[in-house]
Amino acid sequence: MSDAPLHTQFNSIAQLREALVSRQVSAQELAQSALDAIQARADLNAFLHVDATLSLEQARDADRLLADGNAPALAGVPIGHKDLFVTQGWRTTAASKMLADYVSPFDATVVAQLRQAGAVSLGKLNCDEFGMGSSNEKSAFGPVKNPWNTATNPGGSSGGSAAAVAAGLLMGATATDTGGSIRRPAAMCGVSGIKPTYGTVSRYGVIANGSSLDQAGPIARSALDLLELLDPITAFDAADATSLEHCNGTPNQPGRVRHDFDRAVQAHQAAGSTPLKGLRIGVPDEFFSADIQPDVAATIDAALKQYESLGAERVRISLPRTSMSVPVYYVIGPAESSSNLSRFDGVRYGYRTAQYNDLDEMISRSRAEGFGSEVIRRIMVGTYVLSHGYYDAYYLQAQRLRRLIADDFRRALTEQCDVIMGPVAPTVAGDLGTEGSPTEEWTADIFTVSANLAGLPAMSIPCGFASKRNLPVGLQLIGNYFCEGQLLAIAHAYQNVTDWHQRKPEQQ
Ligand code: GLN
Repeated sequence: MSDAPLHTQFNSIAQLREALVSRQVSAQELAQSALDAIQARADLNAFLHVDATLSLEQARDADRLLADGNAPALAGVPIGHKDLFVTQGWRTTAASKMLADYVSPFDATVVAQLRQAGAVSLGKLNCDEFGMGSSNEKSAFGPVKNPWNTATNPGGSSGGSAAAVAAGLLMGATATDTGGSIRRPAAMCGVSGIKPTYGTVSRYGVIANGSSLDQAGPIARSALDLLELLDPITAFDAADATSLEHCNGTPNQPGRVRHDFDRAVQAHQAAGSTPLKGLRIGVPDEFFSADIQPDVAATIDAALKQYESLGAERVRISLPRTSMSVPVYYVIGPAESSSNLSRFDGVRYGYRTAQYNDLDEMISRSRAEGFGSEVIRRIMVGTYVLSHGYYDAYYLQAQRLRRLIADDFRRALTEQCDVIMGPVAPTVAGDLGTEGSPTEEWTADIFTVSANLAGLPAMSIPCGFASKRNLPVGLQLIGNYFCEGQLLAIAHAYQNVTDWHQRKPEQQ
């Protein structure tokens, strides 16, 4: 068994920062010990690209700032990036053969912001190809193993991010969520993750999947650590056409999420022994459908009881179009991805086939050989629903339903409750190599895709274990637009009185 990396001695990013600032530990020591641990856990296949020279250079920079006494908030904190975020120096593959050798000439905005905040990147994390999948088994470079049980998958698509944090290899990681890819792997690996409101975190330099659904966000152990990582990346970015300058009249900039979080926590503290008194938790009937595994439902129910013991009130609500969310998502998502993926043609960059007679053949062979089967499936679905004759029947109809789904949430969150809670997924992590049919897999996204269709912030926090194998279960929290600070505070109130987020898998 290898030594655990140094940062695992600290329970939170805040604690680690104290040790760094007081020079009890150096960023270079932290980075080196994490690099060693990453190598020792190569069996997890969580990382697609590690470059010790680049990481240690960043750590040296952090140490210099720390020694000068004016280090930014995350100086020296070991993190990693999902391989959909482009990075200067490190390869960015999107877990696809199409981009196997691609090195970006620039950093994604989120990568640059976290670097600016002093965080040290330890490499690029495995995921489903172009973020398409729910188990990380769609990576062209092999699946990731779940550290809680290496015979199971870590959930996807950000499986590498969640597995690396769960295994203690990183303090936090970036991830993206188009239809659940932050929340699902966080849930299945027993860590916390947040998908912020659409438009609040820059998508610039994030390889596009479904542009109107994609949101970047962090995965970490606790709500407190998520706050540390989310606050500096929540900012208007002129380079992203859908980035928001204002959120309900407040500038979209670092400090906004922290301010809301602090205010909510102060209010909770003032309420004494029932910190969440007055909080109305909407629990949708549709989230406890017959499809949910009974022990997952029981674990979620226990978490809701815990919330009630903190003073919150459970309100039964209905999100009547829940069953339509998967078909709507799998029309709009593939429509957008098929358009986004048209840039991979073997001409400009990426994979090019070795054998062809003319341009058309070069393009079609490059795409057939460079993309995996799930990506090809989505290109076919996407071009079909956008084609003349089917556009009205599928794409337009899906857009109309998308609006109605968003309206259901808006109604519930303005008239009936302050936050919505339920499961992230109907089951715990599945065995590697036992993925069902494409439609079975798509159906398992039923509890996560609506937040993306509506653009709402949503998160997952660990709330217990289920199944004979004791695999982690995630509680989903969905808030109103721009309420990520309040959501994190509500999650923090739960983590104050429970220790699920501190449980760690034994090294297997
Ligand atoms: N499982 C969903 C899909 O395959 C979600 C993916 C994601 O959020 N990136 O589309």
